[in-house]
Amino acid sequence: MKIPFVSFASVHELLRTEMIEAFSAFYDSKQYILGESVASFEAQYSAFNQTKYTVGVSNGLDALHLALRALGIGKGDEVIIPSNTFIATALAVSYVGANPVFVEPDIRTYNLDPGLIEAAITSRTKAIMPVHLYGQPCNMDAIMAIAARHNLFVVEDNAQAQGATWKTKLTGSFGNINGTSFYPGKNLGALGDAGALTTDDGELRKKAIALRNYGSTEKYKNEVVGFNMRLDECQAKFLSVKLPHLNDWNSQRRQIADWYFEKLAGVEQVILPYSEPDAYHVYHLFVIRTAQRDELQQFLSKNEVQTLIHYPIPPHLQEAYEHLNYKAGDFPIAEEIANTCLSLPVWPGMQENDVHWVSEKIKKFYND
Ligand SMILES: *Cc1c(COP(=O)(O)O)cnc(C)c1O
Repeated sequence: MKIPFVSFASVHELLRTEMIEAFSAFYDSKQYILGESVASFEAQYSAFNQTKYTVGVSNGLDALHLALRALGIGKGDEVIIPSNTFIATALAVSYVGANPVFVEPDIRTYNLDPGLIEAAITSRTKAIMPVHLYGQPCNMDAIMAIAARHNLFVVEDNAQAQGATWKTKLTGSFGNINGTSFYPGKNLGALGDAGALTTDDGELRKKAIALRNYGSTEKYKNEVVGFNMRLDECQAKFLSVKLPHLNDWNSQRRQIADWYFEKLAGVEQVILPYSEPDAYHVYHLFVIRTAQRDELQQFLSKNEVQTLIHYPIPPHLQEAYEHLNYKAGDFPIAEEIANTCLSLPVWPGMQENDVHWVSEKIKKFYND
């Protein structure tokens, strides 16, 4: 049996008719940029995410970039981000001319360790960007309290956690302005690139709306040096079809995670994900850790089970960030995760026998 890392088969089958109808409607609308579909998806997403406003943009990286820009963060400022995040979080900080300041994650949750944040705050710190990594919400009580104490902005990177909650409050609704991604493989994915900002602040929303469209809110009047980072009408239509299914897909991801927990319990060489009691984890990824990571991945690959590594090189060791002068050993927890993590297949529609198959192969690897 061949197990892909992700399969869109069941979602695409379920929505085929509706998606093709959505495309037809888009085709005939002759309204291809910033029309009713973007506005209507924005309203729908705000209702879902329990925020006053959503601003649809071109992708998740642009969302994070525009969030920082809307807050006025720029040259010489510092933004605290986790040392084990996807590169986009750091790139967004670099785009506005600010410096990413890395803080280590908690080795159990893989999320920003609130106990280490305050030591990284300086007079130049402007914001904290928590990343709800792999679909698990960060400890937002602790992070919001630190931000309040030091008068810092919070920008959530909610690319991997749409629908997740920390004590019943949705991720993407805590920060001043937050970014999410609708990259096809995300929990809510478009059929191409797309992203969004979420905020309760009307002023920030206005800034983001101008920034995504040449710095203009009135045609041919440009208030600021903006960008072309608009959400496509067509993608907005697809997202509107998919959004009502997101909670169900997240429940399916959690069920798949439960199957893995059950079937991999007792494999002592494998560290399973740890979920905090206050976190409703939506398992964008099911990440295990093991000392024999590369060997296990090769073995699974030979047995036609596809796995991925999120992420093999932490941002501070990337060539792009050579100028920050970090070296191996500077962020040992991020490096340990990078060297031992392995993401197992998970997608809505994955069946218990698929999970069983993957788990049996993992057990075989350790028992042979
Ligand atoms: C996917 C992702 C992004 C970037 O989203 P794109 O739409 O691919 O630009 C940012 N941060 C995290 C944590 C992500 O997983």
